[in-house]
Amino acid sequence: MTPASEAGRTAGAHDDFDRVAGPGGHPERAARFAADAARAHWHDQALWFVRVKRDRAASALADWEELREAASAVKAHTRSRLADYLEEFERNARAKGAVVHFARDAEEHNRIVHAILAERGVTRLVKSKSMLTEECGLNPYLEARGIEVVDTDLGERIVQLAHEPPSHIVLPAIHRKKEEIGDLFHDKLGTPAGLADPKLLTEAARGHLRERFLAAQAGLTGVNFAVAETGGVVVCTNEGNADMGTHLPPLHIACMGVEKLVPRMKDLAIFLRLLARSATGQPVTTYTSHFHGPREGGELHLVVVDNGRSELLADPDHRRALACIRCGACMNTCPVFRRSGGYSYGWTVPGPIGSILASGRDAAAHRSLPFASSLCGSCSDVCPVKIDLHEQLLERRREVANRGLLPWPKRLGMQLLSVVLRVTWLYALAGWLARVALRRLPRSILYAPANVWGRHRELPAPPRESFRAAYRRMKGGADGHGR
Ligand code: SF4
Repeated sequence: MTPASEAGRTAGAHDDFDRVAGPGGHPERAARFAADAARAHWHDQALWFVRVKRDRAASALADWEELREAASAVKAHTRSRLADYLEEFERNARAKGAVVHFARDAEEHNRIVHAILAERGVTRLVKSKSMLTEECGLNPYLEARGIEVVDTDLGERIVQLAHEPPSHIVLPAIHRKKEEIGDLFHDKLGTPAGLADPKLLTEAARGHLRERFLAAQAGLTGVNFAVAETGGVVVCTNEGNADMGTHLPPLHIACMGVEKLVPRMKDLAIFLRLLARSATGQPVTTYTSHFHGPREGGELHLVVVDNGRSELLADPDHRRALACIRCGACMNTCPVFRRSGGYSYGWTVPGPIGSILASGRDAAAHRSLPFASSLCGSCSDVCPVKIDLHEQLLERRREVANRGLLPWPKRLGMQLLSVVLRVTWLYALAGWLARVALRRLPRSILYAPANVWGRHRELPAPPRESFRAAYRRMKGGADGHGR
């Protein structure tokens, strides 16, 4: 296993985030994003708009909470019998004529996909949205071997043309303004200079992609749900690009993580109602396509990938994260994500769920991510499958600390604090010192570079007395009135 595949992704995918967001952990990258205050504000507002739409769509369903409960229960049950459901799925998919492949990790996934394409002489592939293939770094892997890969989801195509990774799992180009997309299309697709009308830009992209669809020799899609009972897979899109990409060429490859399984067809009714409402506030995705075996004269290959999911399944503290249906709602609501942008996470799946997954995969490389949260719990409140995201983030912080991965100033600070909080007179003395220091010391010392907290915030005005002193004084006063 190469170091890159140990971390679950290819080296190319890691480099992408360093290139677009610069080096460092979440705090450094977030600071760079936030330095452009206008963009950070606009990003925040754009995602909040989606969050509000989601709220409206969710509150329109009287049984929303029951649906969340049901979805969570189905996922928990599926996890408890995952091996059985995988076998059932494989059996039924094969019976319908699909070829099923299993991949242990990203490297094996990429090798399998490349072998299928190379054996058939495919050099032009169209691909609909698949976060799994982003996770595995499939595009650079295939391109390095002479295969042209065209992402056909509009947002994905925008970031592909810009040589960037997606910054959000549902809205891959949300960090880009329409004027920037106009400039990009002018440069890459030859649209008129200054064109920034979203409708006209979309039409230009449609014309450009249509040619690619017609020329493609194979289509690759992700999978939103795989049904064990039928051996079929379900792909949800709003643009119909997965259907175009699979109906025109004779070869369809669908890539899925093992967690995409649901046991029965009727379970889909729960998840399809939750997915679109949580993702974009729509009642249902525009296209919900079911694939049961290859089309006549064609081939369907299903690549089922583990890539670290078995380790997660074996972890009782975090296996619930496998329930994620990648709706993006936890990102849209997270105050940290909205103000720091997707690239600051340095991982294919950003936001609260990405922080849990990434730091579980490689705690040292992603040690700052569990701290990229206010722990307000809003992510857990909106999650359609009821993942206890903020609880898991807190647990991940504990793991990072227990493994000695905290930066030394924080470690030292916490050790000192632990002594101060345990000794009453020390606590009282520290409080007195802090109150005096805040009143007397000049700003140049109070806001020295060592005061990380004070870099972006004003320290609070010091109270005149401690809480204990105020309490004693008021209690004494109250007793006095009572006598
Ligand atoms: S963790 Fe929940 S809210 Fe976040 S993307 Fe996954 S399903 Fe959606």
